[in-house]
Amino acid sequence: MERCSRCILPLDYPGIETDTDGTCNFCHEFEPGHYQGAEKLKADILERSKGSKYDVAIGFSGGRDSSFLVYYLSRVLGLKVLAITIDNGYMSRDAIDNVRSIADEFGVELVIRKHRYLEYSFPRNLKAWSRQPDPALIIALCNGCRFGLRKTLYQVMQEYGARVLVDGASPLEPNPFKEKLFRLNPNGKGKLSLVVGILSHLLRNPRWIINPYNMYIFFMEYAAFYGKHYEKKLQKQGISLISPFYNYIHWDEKFIEETLKNDAHWTLSTQGVSTWRSDCLLAFLKGYLHKHTLGYNEQSGLISNLIRDGQISREEALARVTRVQSVPEEYIRELLEKTGVDFNQMVDNIKKANLYREVTE
Ligand SMILES: [Zn+2]
Repeated sequence: MERCSRCILPLDYPGIETDTDGTCNFCHEFEPGHYQGAEKLKADILERSKGSKYDVAIGFSGGRDSSFLVYYLSRVLGLKVLAITIDNGYMSRDAIDNVRSIADEFGVELVIRKHRYLEYSFPRNLKAWSRQPDPALIIALCNGCRFGLRKTLYQVMQEYGARVLVDGASPLEPNPFKEKLFRLNPNGKGKLSLVVGILSHLLRNPRWIINPYNMYIFFMEYAAFYGKHYEKKLQKQGISLISPFYNYIHWDEKFIEETLKNDAHWTLSTQGVSTWRSDCLLAFLKGYLHKHTLGYNEQSGLISNLIRDGQISREEALARVTRVQSVPEEYIRELLEKTGVDFNQMVDNIKKANLYREVTE
């Protein structure tokens, strides 16, 4: 596989362009973050939460980043934390165990709620996808998750009178390929080219759109991601959102993982070889499908950003990419069986569409 000479993105990554040294545009565009520090984070949280029962609320998935933040906010910054776990119906058992044990250990109040949007739409989406595989629509398998998560989080915050919400988003995480696959021109900008692109992919497989409620969830999911609707709603409710890894503290993978192992006794999910997104079973399925239709997945983007950010060398990244991208096939079979989708049939359909890639390096 031919890759950028600096990061590990393959040269057929959407929107990639290389210079004479073979370095890609994503490497050139990367800018290291500027962080205001832990003291400022604490001060901003306390300023915005003045007078409320909790200093801060956090959406707590039991995955790596939110587990670290629960520890960091409660133990390191000494804040009164309300941890809110929203089960999307596909959380791994390990993740639920982590959530309870971490909340217990740090004396953090934990609220567990469930939403059903993903359980409704995922089996329908997967059946539609497996009949006519399309790499761009892999991310849409999870429609309803983000929408249900946000909606339920804000409800709980209102009930408990919390006013500051912290999230675990990190600047090293975004993967531009997911959006670029939809656009008519991968480097196009603006919402129109995206909306037209999404519609053209959906219309090629009408099974996605025959169910009106499923389409409602689809629409709300994209509104949750791109629209200003939620920001306005948050303002109205008096909730402010803070992303510590964007503005305050550096997302340092080694530090986060060591802290979790040593201080928080956090366990790695048994279903995946990476600590990333071990909180949701569907993340593994998407990783598997991206890998076998595109040759790369979300891990490739994160690992490339770790190189650009100076956290690992390109050699370490290459050694790691095959290992972290692999997802045990038995696990995918099991998830598909529960959903009523035949694994072999799906792989056959991927092959028939000339999309199947055997990834060996
Ligand atoms: Zn690059």
